[in-house]
Amino acid sequence: RQIMRKPIIAGNWKMNNTKKEAEALVNQFKPLVKDAKCDVVVCVPFTNIETVAAACKGSNIKVGAQNVSWADKGAFTGEISADMLKDVGAEYVVIGHSERRQMFGETDKTVNMRTQNALKSGLKPIVCIGETLDEREGSITEKVVTTQIKGAFEGVDAKLLDNVVVAYEPVWAIGTGKTATAEQAQETILYIRSVFKGLYGENVANALRIQYGGSMNASNASELMKKPDIDGGLIGGASLKAEDFSKVVNF
Ligand code: PGA
Repeated sequence: RQIMRKPIIAGNWKMNNTKKEAEALVNQFKPLVKDAKCDVVVCVPFTNIETVAAACKGSNIKVGAQNVSWADKGAFTGEISADMLKDVGAEYVVIGHSERRQMFGETDKTVNMRTQNALKSGLKPIVCIGETLDEREGSITEKVVTTQIKGAFEGVDAKLLDNVVVAYEPVWAIGTGKTATAEQAQETILYIRSVFKGLYGENVANALRIQYGGSMNASNASELMKKPDIDGGLIGGASLKAEDFSKVVNF
Protein backbone atom coordinates (compact mmCIF):
# COMPACT_ATOMS: atom_id res chain seq x y z
CA ARG A 1 0.00 0.00 0.00
CA GLN A 2 1.22 3.45 -0.80
CA ILE A 3 2.28 5.47 2.22
CA MET A 4 0.01 8.28 1.09
CA ARG A 5 -3.07 6.11 1.54
CA LYS A 6 -3.98 5.98 5.21
CA PRO A 7 -6.16 2.92 5.82
CA ILE A 8 -9.76 3.55 6.79
CA ILE A 9 -11.91 1.06 8.67
CA ALA A 10 -15.60 1.92 8.82
CA GLY A 11 -18.33 0.14 10.71
CA ASN A 12 -21.69 -0.10 8.96
CA TRP A 13 -24.23 -0.70 11.68
CA LYS A 14 -27.08 -1.01 9.17
CA MET A 15 -30.49 -0.91 10.91
CA ASN A 16 -29.27 -1.78 14.39
CA ASN A 17 -29.12 -0.09 17.79
CA THR A 18 -31.34 2.29 19.71
CA LYS A 19 -29.70 5.44 21.08
CA LYS A 20 -28.99 3.74 24.37
CA GLU A 21 -27.45 0.69 22.71
CA ALA A 22 -25.46 2.91 20.36
CA GLU A 23 -23.98 4.90 23.20
CA ALA A 24 -23.07 1.77 25.14
CA LEU A 25 -21.39 0.22 22.11
CA VAL A 26 -19.22 3.24 21.23
CA ASN A 27 -18.25 3.73 24.84
CA GLN A 28 -17.11 0.10 24.87
CA PHE A 29 -14.92 0.28 21.81
CA LYS A 30 -13.62 3.83 22.20
CA PRO A 31 -10.76 2.82 24.51
CA LEU A 32 -10.04 -0.29 22.44
CA VAL A 33 -9.40 1.66 19.22
CA LYS A 34 -7.74 4.78 20.61
CA ASP A 35 -4.29 3.86 19.31
CA ALA A 36 -5.47 2.85 15.85
CA LYS A 37 -3.11 3.66 13.01
CA CYS A 38 -6.00 3.91 10.57
CA ASP A 39 -8.95 6.27 10.29
CA VAL A 40 -11.89 4.88 12.26
CA VAL A 41 -15.48 5.62 11.27
CA VAL A 42 -18.86 4.33 12.43
CA CYS A 43 -21.75 4.68 10.01
CA VAL A 44 -24.87 4.58 12.12
CA PRO A 45 -28.65 4.96 11.67
CA PHE A 46 -29.78 8.60 11.32
CA THR A 47 -31.39 8.51 14.74
CA ASN A 48 -28.07 7.63 16.38
CA ILE A 49 -25.81 10.18 14.73
CA GLU A 50 -26.12 12.93 17.31
CA THR A 51 -25.73 10.55 20.26
CA VAL A 52 -22.74 8.77 18.74
CA ALA A 53 -21.08 12.03 17.69
CA ALA A 54 -21.40 13.33 21.25
CA ALA A 55 -19.99 10.10 22.68
CA CYS A 56 -17.06 10.19 20.21
CA LYS A 57 -16.21 13.85 20.72
CA GLY A 58 -12.50 14.28 21.39
CA SER A 59 -11.77 10.70 20.32
CA ASN A 60 -10.29 9.38 17.08
CA ILE A 61 -13.66 8.01 15.94
CA LYS A 62 -15.53 9.78 13.15
CA VAL A 63 -19.22 9.41 12.51
CA GLY A 64 -21.01 8.64 9.27
CA ALA A 65 -24.56 8.21 7.99
CA GLN A 66 -25.82 5.42 5.73
CA ASN A 67 -27.50 7.51 3.06
CA VAL A 68 -27.99 11.13 2.03
CA SER A 69 -30.46 12.93 -0.20
CA TRP A 70 -29.45 14.29 -3.60
CA ALA A 71 -31.45 17.42 -2.91
CA ASP A 72 -30.74 20.27 -0.50
CA LYS A 73 -34.23 20.73 0.92
CA GLY A 74 -37.90 20.68 0.09
CA ALA A 75 -40.51 18.16 -0.96
CA PHE A 76 -38.55 14.93 -0.52
CA THR A 77 -40.51 13.02 2.10
CA GLY A 78 -38.39 10.58 4.05
CA GLU A 79 -35.06 11.96 2.85
CA ILE A 80 -32.31 13.60 4.90
CA SER A 81 -30.05 16.31 3.49
CA ALA A 82 -26.29 16.63 3.71
CA ASP A 83 -26.59 19.81 5.78
CA MET A 84 -28.87 18.03 8.25
CA LEU A 85 -26.32 15.24 8.59
CA LYS A 86 -23.45 17.64 9.15
CA ASP A 87 -25.60 19.53 11.64
CA VAL A 88 -25.79 16.46 13.90
CA GLY A 89 -22.13 15.54 13.53
CA ALA A 90 -21.74 13.27 10.50
CA GLU A 91 -18.59 13.59 8.45
CA TYR A 92 -18.93 10.53 6.20
CA VAL A 93 -21.85 8.92 4.41
CA VAL A 94 -22.27 5.48 2.86
CA ILE A 95 -23.81 5.78 -0.60
CA GLY A 96 -25.14 3.03 -2.88
CA HIS A 97 -24.85 0.10 -0.50
CA SER A 98 -25.99 -3.09 -2.22
CA GLU A 99 -28.88 -3.42 0.21
CA ARG A 100 -30.15 -0.05 -0.97
CA ARG A 101 -29.59 -1.01 -4.60
CA GLN A 102 -31.42 -4.33 -4.14
CA MET A 103 -34.28 -3.31 -1.85
CA PHE A 104 -34.77 0.43 -2.22
CA GLY A 105 -34.38 1.13 -5.91
CA GLU A 106 -30.97 2.76 -5.73
CA THR A 107 -29.34 2.97 -9.17
CA ASP A 108 -26.02 4.20 -10.53
CA LYS A 109 -27.85 7.42 -11.41
CA THR A 110 -29.17 8.02 -7.88
CA VAL A 111 -25.79 7.03 -6.45
CA ASN A 112 -24.25 9.67 -8.71
CA MET A 113 -26.72 12.34 -7.62
CA ARG A 114 -26.25 11.55 -3.94
CA THR A 115 -22.46 11.47 -4.32
CA GLN A 116 -22.39 14.83 -6.09
CA ASN A 117 -24.54 16.38 -3.41
CA ALA A 118 -22.50 14.92 -0.55
CA LEU A 119 -19.28 16.25 -2.07
CA LYS A 120 -20.79 19.67 -2.77
CA SER A 121 -21.78 19.90 0.90
CA GLY A 122 -18.46 18.70 2.26
CA LEU A 123 -19.60 15.26 3.41
CA LYS A 124 -17.20 12.44 2.55
CA PRO A 125 -18.95 9.70 0.58
CA ILE A 126 -18.11 6.02 0.93
CA VAL A 127 -19.37 4.84 -2.44
CA CYS A 128 -20.22 1.13 -2.61
CA ILE A 129 -19.86 -1.05 -5.67
CA GLY A 130 -19.68 -4.80 -6.21
CA GLU A 131 -20.98 -7.72 -8.23
CA THR A 132 -23.57 -10.37 -7.40
CA LEU A 133 -22.80 -14.09 -7.35
CA ASP A 134 -24.42 -14.56 -10.78
CA GLU A 135 -22.28 -11.79 -12.20
CA ARG A 136 -19.09 -13.25 -10.74
CA GLU A 137 -19.96 -16.72 -12.00
CA GLY A 138 -20.77 -15.21 -15.38
CA SER A 139 -17.28 -13.65 -15.42
CA ILE A 140 -18.65 -10.13 -15.79
CA THR A 141 -17.35 -8.70 -12.50
CA GLU A 142 -15.04 -6.25 -14.27
CA LYS A 143 -17.78 -5.07 -16.59
CA VAL A 144 -20.19 -4.61 -13.67
CA VAL A 145 -17.84 -2.59 -11.49
CA THR A 146 -16.74 -0.48 -14.47
CA THR A 147 -20.37 0.45 -15.20
CA GLN A 148 -20.98 1.21 -11.52
CA ILE A 149 -17.91 3.44 -11.29
CA LYS A 150 -18.63 5.33 -14.51
CA GLY A 151 -22.23 5.83 -13.39
CA ALA A 152 -21.43 6.87 -9.84
CA PHE A 153 -18.68 9.31 -10.79
CA GLU A 154 -20.09 10.87 -13.93
CA GLY A 155 -19.39 14.59 -13.76
CA VAL A 156 -17.45 14.33 -10.47
CA ASP A 157 -14.40 16.57 -10.64
CA ALA A 158 -10.96 15.05 -10.01
CA LYS A 159 -10.28 17.67 -7.34
CA LEU A 160 -13.05 16.18 -5.19
CA LEU A 161 -11.72 12.62 -5.28
CA ASP A 162 -9.55 13.37 -2.25
CA ASN A 163 -12.70 13.25 -0.16
CA VAL A 164 -14.00 10.01 -1.64
CA VAL A 165 -13.68 6.48 -0.32
CA VAL A 166 -14.74 3.56 -2.51
CA ALA A 167 -15.96 0.32 -0.92
CA TYR A 168 -15.70 -2.81 -3.03
CA GLU A 169 -18.30 -5.16 -1.63
CA PRO A 170 -19.02 -8.34 -3.56
CA VAL A 171 -22.71 -8.88 -2.86
CA TRP A 172 -22.21 -12.62 -2.36
CA ALA A 173 -19.84 -11.93 0.53
CA ILE A 174 -22.10 -9.55 2.47
CA GLY A 175 -23.53 -11.03 5.64
CA THR A 176 -22.97 -14.54 4.31
CA GLY A 177 -19.80 -15.41 6.17
CA LYS A 178 -18.26 -16.00 2.73
CA THR A 179 -15.37 -13.56 2.52
CA ALA A 180 -13.73 -13.03 -0.81
CA THR A 181 -10.24 -14.44 -0.51
CA ALA A 182 -7.62 -11.78 0.00
CA GLU A 183 -6.40 -12.60 -3.52
CA GLN A 184 -9.86 -12.16 -5.07
CA ALA A 185 -10.36 -8.88 -3.22
CA GLN A 186 -6.93 -7.58 -4.19
CA GLU A 187 -7.41 -8.59 -7.82
CA THR A 188 -10.74 -6.79 -8.18
CA ILE A 189 -9.63 -3.74 -6.22
CA LEU A 190 -6.53 -3.46 -8.42
CA TYR A 191 -8.86 -3.57 -11.40
CA ILE A 192 -11.10 -0.91 -9.83
CA ARG A 193 -8.06 1.31 -9.33
CA SER A 194 -7.20 0.86 -13.01
CA VAL A 195 -10.68 2.10 -13.96
CA PHE A 196 -10.09 5.22 -11.86
CA LYS A 197 -6.70 5.61 -13.58
CA GLY A 198 -8.51 5.67 -16.90
CA LEU A 199 -11.00 8.27 -15.67
CA TYR A 200 -8.82 10.49 -13.47
CA GLY A 201 -5.20 9.65 -14.17
CA GLU A 202 -2.48 7.92 -12.23
CA ASN A 203 -2.05 10.35 -9.32
CA VAL A 204 -5.70 10.54 -8.36
CA ALA A 205 -6.14 6.77 -8.67
CA ASN A 206 -3.05 6.05 -6.60
CA ALA A 207 -4.26 8.34 -3.83
CA LEU A 208 -7.82 6.96 -3.76
CA ARG A 209 -8.69 4.80 -0.76
CA ILE A 210 -10.51 1.61 -1.71
CA GLN A 211 -11.98 -0.59 1.02
CA TYR A 212 -13.02 -4.19 0.93
CA GLY A 213 -16.34 -5.17 2.49
CA GLY A 214 -18.16 -8.45 2.95
CA SER A 215 -17.82 -10.67 6.02
CA MET A 216 -14.59 -8.96 7.00
CA ASN A 217 -13.90 -9.75 10.65
CA ALA A 218 -11.31 -10.19 13.37
CA SER A 219 -9.88 -13.35 11.85
CA ASN A 220 -9.50 -12.30 8.21
CA ALA A 221 -8.78 -8.55 8.52
CA SER A 222 -5.00 -8.77 8.80
CA GLU A 223 -4.69 -10.98 5.72
CA LEU A 224 -6.90 -8.67 3.67
CA MET A 225 -5.08 -5.58 4.91
CA LYS A 226 -1.70 -7.01 3.85
CA LYS A 227 -2.72 -6.67 0.22
CA PRO A 228 -1.21 -3.62 -1.46
CA ASP A 229 -4.42 -2.18 -2.93
CA ILE A 230 -6.79 -2.85 -0.04
CA ASP A 231 -6.91 0.33 2.00
CA GLY A 232 -9.42 -0.61 4.63
CA GLY A 233 -12.76 -2.24 5.23
CA LEU A 234 -16.47 -1.59 5.49
CA ILE A 235 -17.55 -3.81 8.33
CA GLY A 236 -21.15 -4.89 8.91
CA GLY A 237 -21.79 -7.70 11.37
CA ALA A 238 -18.40 -7.50 13.06
CA SER A 239 -18.89 -3.79 13.79
CA LEU A 240 -21.74 -4.53 16.21
CA LYS A 241 -19.50 -6.05 18.87
CA ALA A 242 -16.85 -3.84 20.46
CA GLU A 243 -14.22 -6.52 20.71
CA ASP A 244 -14.66 -7.78 17.14
CA PHE A 245 -14.66 -4.29 15.69
CA SER A 246 -11.59 -3.24 17.63
CA LYS A 247 -9.72 -6.31 16.41
CA VAL A 248 -10.48 -5.35 12.83
CA VAL A 249 -9.46 -1.73 13.46
CA ASN A 250 -6.20 -2.87 15.06
CA PHE A 251 -5.52 -5.31 12.22
P1 PGA B 1 -20.90 -7.74 6.57
O1 PGA B 1 -21.50 -6.43 5.86
O2 PGA B 1 -19.57 -7.35 7.14
O3 PGA B 1 -21.90 -8.09 7.61
O4 PGA B 1 -20.77 -8.79 5.51
C1 PGA B 1 -20.67 -5.56 5.15
C2 PGA B 1 -21.50 -4.47 4.52
O5 PGA B 1 -22.62 -4.76 4.08
O6 PGA B 1 -21.08 -3.31 4.47
